[in-house]
Formats: sequence, C-alpha cells, structure tokens
Amino acid sequence: MVTLQVDRLIDFVAQVFERAGSSKDEARRIGSYLTTANLTGHDSHGVIRVPVYIRWRNAGAVHPDQTVDVPVDLPSLAVVDGKFGYGQTVGPQAVRLGIDKCKTQGLSAVALKNSGHIGRIGDWAEMAAAEGLVSIHFVTAAGSILVAPFGGTERRLSTAPYCVGIPRPGQTPVVLDLATSIVAEGKVLVAARGGKKLPKGALINPDGSLSEDPATLYGSHEKDGPINHANGQGAIRAFGEHKGSGLALICELLGGALTGNGATGPNRPFANGMFSIYVDPQRIDPSHIFDAEVTRYIDFFKSSKTVAGVDQVLIPGDPETATRAERTATGVPLPDDTWAAIVATAREVGVPETAIQAATA
Ligand code: NAD
Repeated sequence: MVTLQVDRLIDFVAQVFERAGSSKDEARRIGSYLTTANLTGHDSHGVIRVPVYIRWRNAGAVHPDQTVDVPVDLPSLAVVDGKFGYGQTVGPQAVRLGIDKCKTQGLSAVALKNSGHIGRIGDWAEMAAAEGLVSIHFVTAAGSILVAPFGGTERRLSTAPYCVGIPRPGQTPVVLDLATSIVAEGKVLVAARGGKKLPKGALINPDGSLSEDPATLYGSHEKDGPINHANGQGAIRAFGEHKGSGLALICELLGGALTGNGATGPNRPFANGMFSIYVDPQRIDPSHIFDAEVTRYIDFFKSSKTVAGVDQVLIPGDPETATRAERTATGVPLPDDTWAAIVATAREVGVPETAIQAATA
C-alpha cells in the first residue's frame, strides 16, 4: 500500500492528463475530482480510473477541453450535449446550467448526453447543495453493459447510478449516491487490483450461480496489466432484488432514453447520460420550514436504537464526510497494484521519472 498526500496526488494526476493533451485547467480539474472520489472513500471512482481514461483518450473515445452544446435551451429546461468531452469538464457545465435556471425559475431539469465518465455523481449533488438546491439525478453509463436484471443472468444494464442531494444550512448535505448494482463496477476493479474484497454474491455466473470473484466479470488478467470486462462471462447483480432492478431500469430510461444519450446496449461507445432535476426549497417554502424540518427529522431518524455492532444510525453522506476528514489529514491510501498501473500510464504519456519519484517521496 502507498499513501499519497492529497495535493501531491492531484498534481501527479494533473501532470498525466496535461501530457495527454488536456489544458492545465482541465488536467487539474480531472485530478481534483478523481482525488475527491478517493477522499470520500469511493476508490472505485478515484485515481484508479487514470489508466482507463488515458486508454479512452488514445482511442479517441474522449476529447479534451470540450465546451458543451445546448441544443434545447428553455427557461427551465436544457438539453446539453457533452460531445464526448471528459465528464469532469462537461459535467460541471451541465450542472451549472441547471443551477442557474433553477435559481431564476425555482425548478429546472437538464438532460446531459454524450458525456465522458462523470465519476462520482455525488459531486454534482454537492455542487447544487452548496447553492442551497435539492437535486435528483438519474444516470446511465451506456456502453458499459455489466449488470443482470432481477431474475436474469445476462448483462442488460449499466451500473446506472441514482443520486439525491438535500442541502442543510451550516452542515454537510444529505447525499444519497448509489450504483443500482450491488457494487459499482469500479469496486470490482478495486478488488481485481488487490483492494477491498467484494460482498458475497455480488456477481452472477452465466449458469446462475453467485460469485464474488472479480474474474467472473473480467476473466483472468496480468497483475498490473489492462483489465477489460469484455473478457469475462458473468455479470454484476442489480441491488435490492426486484425494487433495485426496477430503479436501475428507470435510470436507463431517464438517463439514457429521455436525455437522447441512448440507454445501455451492446456495441456502442461509453457515454454517461444524466437527467437531473433541481428544486429551490426557498421558492417552495419562503418561511424556511424545510430547513428546520430536515434537521428535526434527521435527528429523529438517527435516534433509533442500533443493532448489535453498530454504534450509530448514519444518514447518506455521513460515511463520505468521515472518510474525507480522515484522508484529508492522513493522505489517500492506494493498493500497490493500483499505484503501479497509474505509474505505468504516467510513463506511457511521458511524465518524467523525477515527478514519479517525487509523488510518493
Ligand atoms: P456505496 O454503496 O458506497 O454508497 C451508497 C450510498 O449509501 C451513499 O450515499 C452512502 O452515503 C450511503 N451509505 C453507505 N454506508 C451507509 C451507512 N452505513 N448508513 C447510511 N448510509 C450509508 O456506493 P456505490 O453504490 O458503490 O457507488 C459508488 C460511487 O460510484 C457513487 O459515487 C456513484 O455515483 C458512482 N457511480 C458512477 C457511475 C458512472 O457511470 N459515473 C456508475 C456507477 C456508480
């Protein structure tokens, strides 16, 4: 395991993307969002993605420094075409538009299509919550066909995340941010790279037997070599039995079909599509009952007696806040395999050896 201080990790990742053709600003933005995913405990959506992002860049599947097109621009509704730019660049442009429209209209919706990987969806809910807005996000990761629906053994869904953010004045927002699969694909990637093991039965083999071996999804692979889910035969399972599988379907239909991105299917390029709804609670409730009621209800929710082995009831967002505080202080731990794969990519794009040594010095 190596541990990198936050600023060094951001700088290092930024160097990789600058060498791969991104502007200084974009490279730093990618470094910062990926590192934030690690900081919040979502290693699956953190710097482990550097090799695959560069692979996509080399294949022409993602384009640096894109400015979005807005083919539909109504007072409270926009369609945003990310033109296969990095999600860390086109994602914030789409969210900014949704926030601005919501602030003037009280309610807005933005359909983002053709975005590169937008990472941790909680980032976008936090961006809206920082401006006092509630937001709801339905997402497809079209082209990444990985998840078996309830009752099925074959891949039909992406990990199709769903996210809701609720602002709390003076406190961190409530952020429910989840893949609609038992685990996000990145968590299988983390396990395959020597990190945290998968929960029992997270995967399913073609014969319907359950598994937690990453090879079910990826097939066998070299220790630091490329990992590709096209090489495996099995699937990740949708979470929450028929209910989770149903929510995953809704994410595909809203994030994929309604946005114009297209839902998950075979033989199509990776693109995140995200249908987002923004609500200004102040416009619904000028007397601010909402804020006090959120506080009262969360206190009530958390006051439940706990089951054995659990210290306290948490709300969505609590684990991320705790991990963020801890890792900001102590640094971001990365399994050796993960770091080796990132370093191999850095060498490939020409990051100098001195910079590689300096990152962990
Ligand atoms: P997870 O299972 O770690 O957490 C899901 C949610 O549960 C979070 O809101 C968290 O705060 C909450 N939570 C966790 N433990 C809790 C507890 N003990 N009590 C109360 N709440 C708790 O997340 P995941 O499903 O593995 O998703 C990981 C990340 O992957 C998310 O950020 C998601 O947006 C991202 N993702 C992105 C894509 C994409 O295409 N861009 C696809 C899939 C997932």
